[in-house]
Amino acid sequence: MSNPQFWAVVPAAGIGERMQADKPKQYLQLLGQTVIEHTLQRLASHPQIEGIMVAISANDSWWPNLSLSLDCPLHVVEGGQHRADSVLNSLIGLSERVDNDPWVLVHDAARPCLRVTDIDKMLISLSEHDVGGILGVLVNDTVKRTNLDNEITETVDRRNLWRAATPQMFRLRQLKQALETAFSQQMTVTDEASAIELMGLSPMMIGGHSDNIKITVPEDLALASWFLQQQGEA
Ligand code: C5P
Repeated sequence: MSNPQFWAVVPAAGIGERMQADKPKQYLQLLGQTVIEHTLQRLASHPQIEGIMVAISANDSWWPNLSLSLDCPLHVVEGGQHRADSVLNSLIGLSERVDNDPWVLVHDAARPCLRVTDIDKMLISLSEHDVGGILGVLVNDTVKRTNLDNEITETVDRRNLWRAATPQMFRLRQLKQALETAFSQQMTVTDEASAIELMGLSPMMIGGHSDNIKITVPEDLALASWFLQQQGEA
């Protein structure tokens, strides 16, 4: 059997409203580079990633100003209204470029602190798996459910509860079909695994590091900067 192939898909067409910044969060500065440059470099530096498909918004005036120098080919597609649309456009773009069925690792542009060792862990754990899986972190807080008046109605059993992160690693054709099916049924999917789950399949959860944060609110930038510095020194 030939060696499995791996591509990365990076949805980067969001606006990032919660950052209250003058540009989308992937273009904010983090240790002298934009967030998305860190993210793409992390993925491209992995020797088994063949190439990256990145989804950029049609009105993006920041992307053309980046001067990227990556260790693997990079292809750009137009993003869509929601993250899942951007991912599907990337998968369509990728399926027009490859004639096999590679694994794709979908990774948010807004997660610049992904450790290369966590990519390794996914590739090693999932390459032989029938479905694929995602990186996540076990929930370590006590979790409460409330009603509409914010009254606590339940303390949720947190055993086996995870926070889903990215990369999310699935076969190109199966993921494309799963997203197309979810769209045709008007199902909302906030990550790739949910689309796969809707097909009755069971992706694996792979325990990753909690520093793989998604830049969402302004204070996340300081945290990401600290994590990157710590990782550099590790
Ligand atoms: O907004 P949120 O943090 O959930 O976005 C996660 C990732 O999805 C970001 O990298 C963002 O750029 C991307 N995204 C996208 N297309 C959209 C919305 C979000 O590619 N329409």
